[in-house]
Amino acid sequence: MADTAAAPVTVNGRTYRPTNRPVVIVCVDGCEPDYITQAIEAGVAPYLKTMCECGTSLLGDCVVPSFTNPNNLSIVTGVPPAVHGICGNFFYDAERRQEVMMNDARYLRAETILASFSHAGAKVAVVTAKDKLRALLGHHMRGICFSAEKADKATLGENGIDNVLALVGMSLPSVYSADLSEFVFAAGVALMKRDRPDVMYLSTTDYVQHKHAPGTPEANAFYAMMSGYLEQLEALGATVALTADHGMNAKTDAAGRAQIVFLQDWFDRELGAGKARVILPITDPYVVHHGSLGSFATCYLPSGADVDALCHKLANVPGIEAVLPRRAAAARFELPEDRLGDVVVISERLVVLGTTPARHDLSGLDAPLRSHGGVSEQKVPLLFNRPLKDIPAGRRLRNFDVFDLAFNHSA
Ligand SMILES: [Zn+2]
Repeated sequence: MADTAAAPVTVNGRTYRPTNRPVVIVCVDGCEPDYITQAIEAGVAPYLKTMCECGTSLLGDCVVPSFTNPNNLSIVTGVPPAVHGICGNFFYDAERRQEVMMNDARYLRAETILASFSHAGAKVAVVTAKDKLRALLGHHMRGICFSAEKADKATLGENGIDNVLALVGMSLPSVYSADLSEFVFAAGVALMKRDRPDVMYLSTTDYVQHKHAPGTPEANAFYAMMSGYLEQLEALGATVALTADHGMNAKTDAAGRAQIVFLQDWFDRELGAGKARVILPITDPYVVHHGSLGSFATCYLPSGADVDALCHKLANVPGIEAVLPRRAAAARFELPEDRLGDVVVISERLVVLGTTPARHDLSGLDAPLRSHGGVSEQKVPLLFNRPLKDIPAGRRLRNFDVFDLAFNHSA
């Protein structure tokens, strides 16, 4: 069925060739691969099982910091943060001398695949759970782009669509709920039925993954829900490609106590109070999930500080996995050097990084802390409902290869 008008597009050095099927790229927030395995084992996600058996299941590496914004932007641009510029949810804008959210499109340094397709004449639709990503994902894009969080406020002028609640047939979900993600999938199916977009990007929230480990009833219920919607997209003729922005791990000891290294306190002891500035790029307005605790931090040091000596000393603190000076960190993790502090700190799998206890409100946590941000959350699924062909042996796959794999390699 030749139902696509889309032409090939080249963006950020890669070319994407549409086939005659709509392509749906799904970014499942916080989807440690084991969530899918356990849901299939429990028998609750039959379509995910079909994807594994009849399509393709691979693993890829996400971008470190394994946070939401850097990875969503890597996925939709096809390149790492060194190119597109978004290296955190939050960062220190050295030019403005301010700690700011990085969800403004002025921080984006690359065009998105979505925008490029839309300008090449393709019908493009984007649905994201949280509104914090909408402006970045929809940058320069023509077509439909809205968040589940603000679905009731979507207008034709701003979002390319109105009356979303009626179209989806759901009431507005709470921002802290599994329903926020279900709304994304339900909207995707409704849009596929009504508009049949050539390219659709669906991005969920990790509310469930922050609270519930793989294989738990709540996690399995989430993946059962997702399996049903993806099956509907397949029935509508779409190529479905699933990946994640990052994995997720428990950050606790055996008693369920959060394992936290407080970096501001550590630097205050080493250098004097307030001399270093610790930035936690996980920080966003939705702190109930994680209390702003993740496994990646960057620190600005006072001039004259002995960076190498501090790196060496901090690397020996229990729970710390790696401490790298700016340039080495930028090279290893493909990050924009001008948006990093003097050092980058990564904690071990069961450990998170904080500033000082008073600045982390854990009262919203009603379950042992689960979080992400480090190298330990880098493995993510790459799951397709079609066989893939012509992938060179030994190629290191990334989550931001998902558009390339879906467009250029699906059989
Ligand atoms: Zn995320």
